[in-house]
Amino acid sequence: MIEVIKDWCKGCDICVRRCPVHALETSDELNKRGVYPPKLKEENECNYCRLCELLCPDFAITVVAEERKEESKSGLIIGGVANEV
Ligand code: SF4
Ligand code: SF4
Repeated sequence: MIEVIKDWCKGCDICVRRCPVHALETSDELNKRGVYPPKLKEENECNYCRLCELLCPDFAITVVAEERKEESKSGLIIGGVANEV
C-alpha cells in the first residue's frame, strides 16, 4: 500500500518516472499546491521496494507493505517496549 500525503506533493513526477515496475501514475485530483499527486495504477504492480518513498524530495510518500500492516495490529513498540493495542 502506498500512502500519499497529497498536499505535500509538488508534482515533480520523480516517483512516477523512477518506479521500476511503473506502478504509479498521476492522479486527476488537484492538490492544494495546484499539482496532481501520484497514485497507484488500478492493476497494482507495486513490489514495496520503497524507491518512491526514498526519492520523494517532499516526503509525501510512505510505503506500507501488507505484512507490516498486519504486524502493526499485534502491538506497538514505543521506546523499545512492546505494548498491546
Ligand atoms: S516524488 Fe514526491 S513530490 Fe514528486 S510527484 Fe512524487 S509524491 Fe509528488
Ligand atoms: S514502492 Fe517501489 S514498486 Fe511500489 S510504487 Fe514505489 S517505487 Fe514503485
